[in-house]
Amino acid sequence: MPQKTKHTPMMEQYLAIKAQYQDAFLFYRLGDFYEMFYDDAIKASQILEVTLTSRNKNADDPIPMCGVPYHAARGYIDTLIEKGYKVALCEQVEDPKTAKGMVKREVVQLITPGTVMDAKGLEAKNNNYLTALATDGQQYSLAYADLTTGELKCTLLSDFEDVINELSLLQTKEVVVHSDFEVAQQNIIKQRLNCMISYDDQVAENATFQFLTQNIAHNLMKDSLKILLNYLNVTQKRTLDHLQRAEEYTIDHFLKLDHYSKRNLELTESIRGESKKGTMLWLLDETKTAMGGRLLKQWIDRPLIQKKKIENRQQIVQNLLNHFFERMDLNEALTKVYDLERLAGRVAFGNVNGRDLIQLKTSLNQVPYLIEILSLMNDGELDQILTELDPVSEVVEKIEAAISEDAPLAIKDGGVIKDGYHETLDQYRDAMRNGKTWIAQLEAEEREKTGIKTLKVGYNRVFGYYIEITKANLVNLPEGTYERKQTLANAERFITPELKEKETLILEAEEKSMDLEYQLFLEVREVVKQYIDRLQKLAKTIAAVDVMQSFATVSEKYHFVKPEMTDTEQVIELIDGRHPVVEKVLGQQSYVPNSVVMDKATSMLLITGPNMSGKSTYMRQLALTVILAQMGCFVPASKAKLLIFDQIFTRIGAADDLISGQSTFMVEMMEANQALMHGTPNSLILFDEIGRGTATYDGMALAEAIIEYIQQHVHAKTLFSTHYHELTVLEDTLPALKNIHVGAVEEDGQVVFLHKIMEGPADKSYGIHVAKLAGLPDELLTRANTILTALEEKDQGPIIGKIDPVVIQKKEEYLIEEEQQLSLFGQLSVEEEAVVQALKQKNVMNMT
Ligand code: ADP
Repeated sequence: MPQKTKHTPMMEQYLAIKAQYQDAFLFYRLGDFYEMFYDDAIKASQILEVTLTSRNKNADDPIPMCGVPYHAARGYIDTLIEKGYKVALCEQVEDPKTAKGMVKREVVQLITPGTVMDAKGLEAKNNNYLTALATDGQQYSLAYADLTTGELKCTLLSDFEDVINELSLLQTKEVVVHSDFEVAQQNIIKQRLNCMISYDDQVAENATFQFLTQNIAHNLMKDSLKILLNYLNVTQKRTLDHLQRAEEYTIDHFLKLDHYSKRNLELTESIRGESKKGTMLWLLDETKTAMGGRLLKQWIDRPLIQKKKIENRQQIVQNLLNHFFERMDLNEALTKVYDLERLAGRVAFGNVNGRDLIQLKTSLNQVPYLIEILSLMNDGELDQILTELDPVSEVVEKIEAAISEDAPLAIKDGGVIKDGYHETLDQYRDAMRNGKTWIAQLEAEEREKTGIKTLKVGYNRVFGYYIEITKANLVNLPEGTYERKQTLANAERFITPELKEKETLILEAEEKSMDLEYQLFLEVREVVKQYIDRLQKLAKTIAAVDVMQSFATVSEKYHFVKPEMTDTEQVIELIDGRHPVVEKVLGQQSYVPNSVVMDKATSMLLITGPNMSGKSTYMRQLALTVILAQMGCFVPASKAKLLIFDQIFTRIGAADDLISGQSTFMVEMMEANQALMHGTPNSLILFDEIGRGTATYDGMALAEAIIEYIQQHVHAKTLFSTHYHELTVLEDTLPALKNIHVGAVEEDGQVVFLHKIMEGPADKSYGIHVAKLAGLPDELLTRANTILTALEEKDQGPIIGKIDPVVIQKKEEYLIEEEQQLSLFGQLSVEEEAVVQALKQKNVMNMT
């Protein structure tokens, strides 16, 4: 850390600035480099793998230092941000030529994970959200923005679990809170969502805030917006004209799905790894534009619950499906539309370049064409979209007139503005061109005059234009012809007064033209900026068209049908449904379609069947189908009528919440509880093997109690899979419960899973079949059969007390626990004792 020694003025300046940005890497601009010092330098040199040197090497206290070149800084900044750090960019803010004393430097932008604007790591089809939270102790408000697109939204949430769900859905990387936000909750956010917490305690209510929040009445919501907007303000240090007016949303207006379920169902992320492959997003994404890609993800995250809105999307999809050839044209046109939202964002942010504007023009030029195609396709469903497609021709005309088709990336080096756009610029350019022609002619003339054929006119940055003659030819040059300027090993360089005169003209014209071009570019940018609002609206419409064409494409490709939606009848009639992702992976031929039929009187299907037979695939199939339907997409089935669900609760597979350190069983119970507490008759509950995480009796008892509770209090449509075969007798007492099972047959001593759902309970002895398949000794299998028969004969008492042999075999711990429980109650029957003894003699842990 800095010593108490006297620092140079520059280091004084550095330290003063660094003191304000303790939690960020300070990139301090020195000439062509950004330099870092002290701890920043030590840490950054390791992370970025750049050489650590020091300033004042020979002094007693050399200052650690490392630097990255200014022009290559982007990549280094991205790396730091990706690793979860912040970077403060400190630039010279006055012209060194005119500065008195130390050149003034200031942090011009604080880049943080939630505020990156143009990193390589920004994926085109992903939003990058910054989120702010506020609470009044009763409820929470959450506000979020994507700085790259200008989206700004806020909501009120009644409990912290909803906050976690929203943060997880937004995949936010940075959450801003007031510093007195409860620390325990901050920690949960950090751990469970792996995101950065930043603080903002200022409460500025400036004009921008007033403008952006004018539609928001609730004070708590304004609080989170205040934190968010203020944080953007202090980090970005510029006006952000592309931020859209805050839009309030309510999670109750969408199908609710907690983050466990989202993860379990692999909607946008696969359980293993970050990859999209194998997710529903992967299946559905036939979007052609980046905006469409982002919107698709948002739609998956928030399926609708209003019948009208769902049907509106379905009708548009149907309309698009009706016109195959035009749809091909539509897709082609969409492919030529660049990321309008982010382009608009860059215009407002001030980091747009000439090439971006050309992309903007190209995109807008597609709009009249899109209108033409969609008008041709329109069966009446596209009217609204057609009125919303705005070609923003003012912007096209401006860019067309001003910006050169092959504008370079740099905006200060000239070549951005078209000839003929501005008279003075044309004059400068003429001067440059004339001068250059004059110089080109000079070479020919001087060769002629001197007779030296190798005479040439050249240019370098130090000496400007010169005439060069090789040493061998110097004898042919009369003394005093030109003025000698520079001597090289085998040539001499000369100048003439006229040459220098022309040079001055050219260079002046060049400098002036570049300055003027830059000014003109800024003007064009300002003009475009006035249309940001319209560009963003257009982007939204195009994104929606793109998502719906993606739905149409997918529906056609995978033979989806339009589901009939009902919000009055509690029915599910999914005929020959398929799990679309598994089907895509397995291939259509290998997938066995299965129907899910539940009339008004049936609220629960109890699914039995051996492991690996397809129980959880069947449940997931229904969940995905419901989500697809409520997004407005068609569904994988031959026919479908579906209740519009308000919530889906799942407990599928073993989604250990490793990060929060809770046991699997605890998570299982917590998830079950969510469904029991919040489920309604319009909810869908999918419980896969609830209770298997604890001892058999315990688990079975819980499973039965949960089934009864759902039937008596929740009345939600429920699929409940279980290996507790004993539960199937519940069909006799619970009228709304129906047994189904996944069929399997034995062929040549092999169990073959048919993956076909059938009525009634499963045959009990599949467990033993599977054990046989796994190669367990014959002696053991015979014994197991005997025990099974014995148990079945005894099978008349209450449910508790029946032991499923397969389960007992599963783990020795179960056995021990069981034994303890049994002996605790001293109720071990002779037969049960026999089972326990027989199993204890086998080394279960060595069995597959
Ligand atoms: P369970 O939940 O009964 O243990 P899963 O649902 O995990 O079984 O299914 C096991 C495997 O069987 C899946 O990975 C899948 O490959 C295959 N499978 C499941 N359902 C079907 C089906 N309907 N058609 C074809 N294969 C299926």
